[in-house]
Amino acid sequence: MNILVSACLLGVCCTYRGTSKEQEAVLKLLQEGHTLIPVCPEQLGGLPTPRPASERKGDKVVSCLGVDVTDNFVRGAKEALRIAKLYNCKVAVLKERSPSCGNGQIYDGSFRGVLNDGDGVTTELLKQHGIRVLGESETERI
Ligand code: SF4
Repeated sequence: MNILVSACLLGVCCTYRGTSKEQEAVLKLLQEGHTLIPVCPEQLGGLPTPRPASERKGDKVVSCLGVDVTDNFVRGAKEALRIAKLYNCKVAVLKERSPSCGNGQIYDGSFRGVLNDGDGVTTELLKQHGIRVLGESETERI
């Protein structure tokens, strides 16, 4: 099965800090015969790496420097969706708590490490198009 995956979970150094978030459980999906399609919506949306941390705040996404980066996040989400459709991905495994990739819980926009119910911008768009989204701690549910 083709599965869309947050690139940072596969060891790509694309996080806002310029690091990766490699996860053994996600890499194991390759050994199980799945084809993993890596995307980093924030890079696809034109943001640099490293970059200032961002959080969703209402309808907007704002960086810790107070810059409105909503357009970048929306563009990245659309590109991720385009790639998911090209590869006929019905499932995505995305990085938990990210303002792009988070699923069910994301930071609340205060930059104080407080979590709220909600999805990242890319997760929201993928779900709207019928793609099932799981976090990296849920790979056994595939
Ligand atoms: Fe990882 Fe998604 Fe953040 Fe890119 S946007 S670094 S793929 S969590």
